[in-house]
Amino acid sequence: MEKTEVNFKTIVEKLDLPLAAVDYDNKIVFANAFFCSLFNIDAEFISGKNLYDFLPEIADTVVINDYTYKITKYEDEFYSYFYLTIADNRMEQIYSDFISTVSHELRTPLTSIRGFADTMLMSYDKLDAEQKKKFLTIIKEQSNRLIKLVENLLSISKIQVQHSNLVFKSVNPKATVEQVADILKNQYPSHPFEIQCAADVSNILVDENKFQQIMINLMDNAAKYSYEKGAVKVEISNSSKENFVSIKVKDHGVGIEPENLGRIFEKFTRIENHLTRKTQGSGLGLYIVKDLIEKMGGQIFVESSVELPNSGSVFEVLLPVASYTSQSKKKLEDR
Ligand code: ADP
Repeated sequence: MEKTEVNFKTIVEKLDLPLAAVDYDNKIVFANAFFCSLFNIDAEFISGKNLYDFLPEIADTVVINDYTYKITKYEDEFYSYFYLTIADNRMEQIYSDFISTVSHELRTPLTSIRGFADTMLMSYDKLDAEQKKKFLTIIKEQSNRLIKLVENLLSISKIQVQHSNLVFKSVNPKATVEQVADILKNQYPSHPFEIQCAADVSNILVDENKFQQIMINLMDNAAKYSYEKGAVKVEISNSSKENFVSIKVKDHGVGIEPENLGRIFEKFTRIENHLTRKTQGSGLGLYIVKDLIEKMGGQIFVESSVELPNSGSVFEVLLPVASYTSQSKKKLEDR
């Protein structure tokens, strides 16, 4: 194969758009993975197929899975290229919902911080030590909430420009989980946080701040989507998958319907349940969690049930152990 052809295919494969290249006969010579998955066809069977088995011959739009795509054609001296871009206004709707959710998410803690700071300033001498401590605690918790939101927002902008500087080091997972539990205990005083860690558990090779961000999102969700007093349990052990540590976050909350399990990791997606209306959220947490875990060479799995009351959800994260050879560390750093 010519070098330029290899480069071209690598670039096209990475494109965030479904694209197919066809010859003068409209036979597909190459289609990227996005195109194949959109039409549910195995990449090895696509070449040689007629483009118009997939796209309409005359129209310049096509509807797939309820989305309308605009078809754009570009030609060079060898092939014609067809790529699809979402044409309906659903993306606009998604973004506008997102802006209103985020504005709400920002305004609520800010209003509370300003309110309690105002009360402290105006009535400082009239408040007793107990009240002052209570107000300052609320200000601190609301600031933590804002920090989590801002960190999540920064993460998605970094993901979008495909740029993230991960600093890998050996981290004790239990220590981070304990720190996160301490932060969340103040925010969810009625939910017990229980941490179980096997004695022989290895350190993991991760970016410490990002690992903390992952655990904040998962443990915060576990408490947020549980009823009053629902315990959040975190179990840390060496995974049966060699060279990986398993961290399970278990709750006894509302659970997730099986048909929604695939959607929860999508950007801006909040799934309707008994508690989503009452709870704050931007629909970004799990999208970021999955992306960060995969960038650190790990995996995330979810099991959930809505059949029995309070059966809840289990999110399991696998992350590579730190003693894993320096060669695999190098591979991770190269990502
Ligand atoms: P957010 O919590 O801001 O809505 P996430 O991306 O963290 O966004 O979660 C996406 C959706 O997944 C939530 O809206 C919720 O419906 C569902 N979800 C996440 N974690 C849990 C959980 N532990 N129990 C039940 N549902 C959950």
